[in-house]
Amino acid sequence: MTEQALQIVRERLPDYVAAVTTKSKGGFWVCPLCGSGTGKNKSGAFKVQDEKWRCFACGRGGDVLDLLGEIEGLQGFRDQVRRAEELFRIDGSMTAGAAPVRSESKPEPVFISPETMQASFNHYDQNNFALWLVKVFGEEKALELAFAYGLGTAKHWPGACVFWQIDEAWRVRRGKVMLYNSETGGRVKEPGNMVAGVHWLLGMRERNPEPCLFGLHLAAADWSKPVAVVESEKSAIIGAGFVPEFIWTATGGSGSLNRSILEPLQGRRIVLFPDLGAFDKWSEKSAKWPGVEVSPMLERRASAEDRAAGLDVADYLLREHFSTAN
Ligand SMILES: [Zn+2]
Repeated sequence: MTEQALQIVRERLPDYVAAVTTKSKGGFWVCPLCGSGTGKNKSGAFKVQDEKWRCFACGRGGDVLDLLGEIEGLQGFRDQVRRAEELFRIDGSMTAGAAPVRSESKPEPVFISPETMQASFNHYDQNNFALWLVKVFGEEKALELAFAYGLGTAKHWPGACVFWQIDEAWRVRRGKVMLYNSETGGRVKEPGNMVAGVHWLLGMRERNPEPCLFGLHLAAADWSKPVAVVESEKSAIIGAGFVPEFIWTATGGSGSLNRSILEPLQGRRIVLFPDLGAFDKWSEKSAKWPGVEVSPMLERRASAEDRAAGLDVADYLLREHFSTAN
């Protein structure tokens, strides 16, 4: 199975979980393996985050293939992949660059209209992430960054923001609604994961176009600078504020780094800035990709405490900035 097809399989985790079990309390699910979360007062212990799941009761976890394997008793990776192709109707030979082969039941992807996106460019006073950006950079710089990246405000949760994935042709591929704390800039993860796709919110979850890098439109518009790639949208915006020598983009998740997402940047100098803990994974993945470097910045400078805290690129840049400013 190609990396691209595997990525599509991994992204089916939320759909698969919804099909095999039921919701429990507080953003958790009833564990389809050990049944935790079914009791009267028991809150669930089975959690899905991005492309991973974990049950805190029975200790099992992994990606969608691991779950499929557990439920259907398929131990080998090959058997799991074969079953996933069948179950999710995915063509495993799909390669980057080739048009993805879709089954007849998969509807055409729908791009988000510019009007929908533009309607979100307001109410920054009710947008926790924007309020925090103002605290970090001051109003003028914060607004400049918000406009450059197309930061939107979402009504889905009070204080939520939306990060739009705008591609090299200025098509809006996806929108990701997230909730941050306006004081600390940290993610709010209670009661649930507090991340929602705009397609899903619009009732079009099956019609997501392929993802693109967050900030790709900025990279496409300026070929004079190398492109930095980080994991989170927040790190990209912080990077753009502090290190303007690069155009900063984000994959939107550590597992979302793949060759096809970097394809629109072919011929450019690309520097990956992995978060602590993702260095080996990103280095291994990108080893054979031409023009792609991996920055050892965090890996080299991290202390034991940083590692324990899981420092990310944004944390690091903020710390550097505020320690030199004082
Ligand atoms: Zn369990």
